[in-house]
Amino acid sequence: MYRTWVEISLSQIAANYRALCEVAGPGVAVVPVVKADAYRHGALPVATRLQAEGAAWMAVSNSAEGVQLRLGGVSAGILVMGDFAPFERESLAAANLTPVIHSLTRLREYDAFARGRGAVLPYHLKIDTGMGRLGTRASASAILEAIHGASSLRLEGLMTHFASPSDFTSAQTAGQVAAFEAVCGALAAEGVRPPLLHLSSSAPVAFGLRHAFGSMVRPGLALYGYVSPPVGPAPPVAVEVKPALAWRACVLEIKELAPGDPIGYGARWRASRPSRIAVVAAGYADGVPHSLSNRGHALAAGRLVPLVGAVSMDLLTLDVTSCPELCPGAAVTLIGQDGDARYDAEDMAREAGIISYAVLCGIGHRVARVYVD
Ligand SMILES: *Cc1c(COP(=O)(O)O)cnc(C)c1O
Repeated sequence: MYRTWVEISLSQIAANYRALCEVAGPGVAVVPVVKADAYRHGALPVATRLQAEGAAWMAVSNSAEGVQLRLGGVSAGILVMGDFAPFERESLAAANLTPVIHSLTRLREYDAFARGRGAVLPYHLKIDTGMGRLGTRASASAILEAIHGASSLRLEGLMTHFASPSDFTSAQTAGQVAAFEAVCGALAAEGVRPPLLHLSSSAPVAFGLRHAFGSMVRPGLALYGYVSPPVGPAPPVAVEVKPALAWRACVLEIKELAPGDPIGYGARWRASRPSRIAVVAAGYADGVPHSLSNRGHALAAGRLVPLVGAVSMDLLTLDVTSCPELCPGAAVTLIGQDGDARYDAEDMAREAGIISYAVLCGIGHRVARVYVD
């Protein structure tokens, strides 16, 4: 009994995880990315379920997300990928989190911190091979010297991150793989061979780019059932994953409008014929993109129906003239399946002019979460 809620299938997420493990193949660890509250699927329930499926690592963005998993009983390794401020060092160490370090300066600082604690702390080092965001761009020899100098730290992994993994018209991914291999090769030649080398998020795994798998891959979006639409001549999708989340909302009122009657803020839509309008209990405060105003869709009574008028903070309006059986109290589907009709986060993202990641991560805290099997 909720005004708006998401239904999340942990078994579908587990099935997606197993499918990704299959594509990764033996010897390649799959690290579920559960940052941003597992793209709003619930970090703790998702991590707990995937740990039971055998995941030895989880990846989060920041130390608070890692601490939350530890407090919830997750014992798998937790990789903190999104850098950290000095005040986060203590909780990284106390919660046994493994930070990714992004510059040689930070490496020396974290080493001094570890020495002060009298501990040897694990870390992964990120190489910026072209993303131009986090990661060191230092030469292999400078990296080598910094690693050797950090005697209170233990290097467990080297990583990089692709900027254009879904763009098959671009040579950027190949260039990034080559740059990463060059650094890893130079370090290996000097005896620095950390057990984990990782480069790939969902897209390279989904499109089967085996040469970019290293010994570990880091899928997020694919775990939740989506593969971003590729650009250019992409190989066939190598993995079958399905969305694990459906978003529903209650019809509060049904309104009969006469031709010419306006709807909502700015009167952005007017009935061109006698129209039945469903007033639905979800708005942009719940994460429905405002840019869907007058252009989005939803599913009502098993049919795709247009979103009409402006999306408001707490409400949206659907033209349900084609659904005479729809009554107040019924649920409509904002993302998901209803009968044979389907409208997923990718569809919503396309109509809203954003990406599916932003649709999922944008689902608001007012939206209740219900776990179904
Ligand atoms: C978010 C993130 C991922 C997961 O990306 P998806 O495209 O969702 O698979 C992997 N690696 C890093 C460094 C990330 O920040």
